[in-house]
Amino acid sequence: MRLEALDKAHLWHPFTQMQGWQATRPLIIERAEGCYLYDLEGRRYLDGVSSLWVTTHGHRTPELDAAIRHQLDKVAHTTLLGLTHPPAIELAARLVQLAPSGLTRVFYSDSGSTAVEVAIKMAFQYWRQRSDPRPRKTKFIHLRESYHGDTVGAVSVGGIALFHDLYRPLLFETLTVPEPHCYRCPLKLERPGCGMACAEELGRILSEHADEIAAVIIEPVMMGAAGMLAQPDGYVRRVRELCTAYDVLLICDEVATGFGRTGWMFACEAEGVAPDLLCVAKGLTGGYLPLAATLTTEAIYAAFLGEAGEFKTFFHGHTYTGNPLACAVALANLDLFEQNRTLDHVRTVANHLALRLEELRTLPLVGDIRQRGLMVGIELVADRAARTPFPPDQLMGYRVTNRCRDYGVILRPLGNVVVLMPPLAISTAQIDELADVLKTVIPEVAQSL
Ligand SMILES: *Cc1c(COP(=O)(O)O)cnc(C)c1O
Repeated sequence: MRLEALDKAHLWHPFTQMQGWQATRPLIIERAEGCYLYDLEGRRYLDGVSSLWVTTHGHRTPELDAAIRHQLDKVAHTTLLGLTHPPAIELAARLVQLAPSGLTRVFYSDSGSTAVEVAIKMAFQYWRQRSDPRPRKTKFIHLRESYHGDTVGAVSVGGIALFHDLYRPLLFETLTVPEPHCYRCPLKLERPGCGMACAEELGRILSEHADEIAAVIIEPVMMGAAGMLAQPDGYVRRVRELCTAYDVLLICDEVATGFGRTGWMFACEAEGVAPDLLCVAKGLTGGYLPLAATLTTEAIYAAFLGEAGEFKTFFHGHTYTGNPLACAVALANLDLFEQNRTLDHVRTVANHLALRLEELRTLPLVGDIRQRGLMVGIELVADRAARTPFPPDQLMGYRVTNRCRDYGVILRPLGNVVVLMPPLAISTAQIDELADVLKTVIPEVAQSL
């Protein structure tokens, strides 16, 4: 087939072993509608991962389509370097209104990775330029197992060995703290007797190193790419308290958790936390166009003000920063959150999903199920009692998600974890479709071992 041949001849797919790709038939998606994707032969698939965690109100949402068409009749792109335009202005104001209190300034970029790069550079530069400078504060603390994107700065604050170790010689040095992950506690402790020792380890490192720390970066509430690691209640609040106590900035990377994913507009709201820098991307445009933003406080913004000759400018900006089409569709996306009462809907369907996931807990292979809103990880294990992981080369997650395709459901694994990240607009009937397929497929795969 022509497209398949051309794909295999020229395309290099992300996060993909291309040797394996060459040996399999690619699934070519031609169009989509609501929560479904359709391939070239017209076969229908439930989009169980929101086209990589981005779709909010569904594919081909009329209001979102219209917002782009409307903007297209005005201008597709004009720069924010030295000029400005209505959609970027309106969206910045709207984001400030929605964000946790104190975040009053919006800096646009194009992807989650760049939103993180911007936060890192802002935090670094802030400490040098504020009226009472602290130029020794140059280092960053991140969680082990963290994922904040694939550009070199974002990889520096990453901790996933498989993705990041190879690049270590290219990266800046960081300090790390144990990830809060109760199913596989890195400190070998148990809740609640542990007293959240993982957070106290952050306190210990801050007590020794706060003078040289610019910021702590976390993914609040749920670490996505790490394998959907759900944090214990109170963890984000404790991190905020420690950052405040030790005069260190807190960067919350809500690229995955933002825009309703956990049932809150932003996950840190669940713990009443406002960070100093907030990174958003994925759900911002409803899954339509690449757009990201880094929000920050008046205090950080003020440290960049001065005469041109003082060189306090934030010398950063991507060519398509604040693209008008992307900003226009983001505004329409946020309008729909209100009109459709999307957060209420997410909480309702997430409760239904929780009930259905209970049925999966007793299936063979299922070790743990971690859910926050419409963000779920189902961890497959070789031995449930001992929580023994499958060796990576058994590709257990892949086997399950690949079989799901035969039943019309698209999912993607993270190692041994099957990820569910459906569009926020998913219905209870579609949740049932998803759960029913997993209930069939997981025992099938277990049988085949
Ligand atoms: C996806 C993701 C990123 C990277 O975003 P890209 O748009 O892929 O660059 C960063 N942080 C988190 C938490 C993510 O889930």
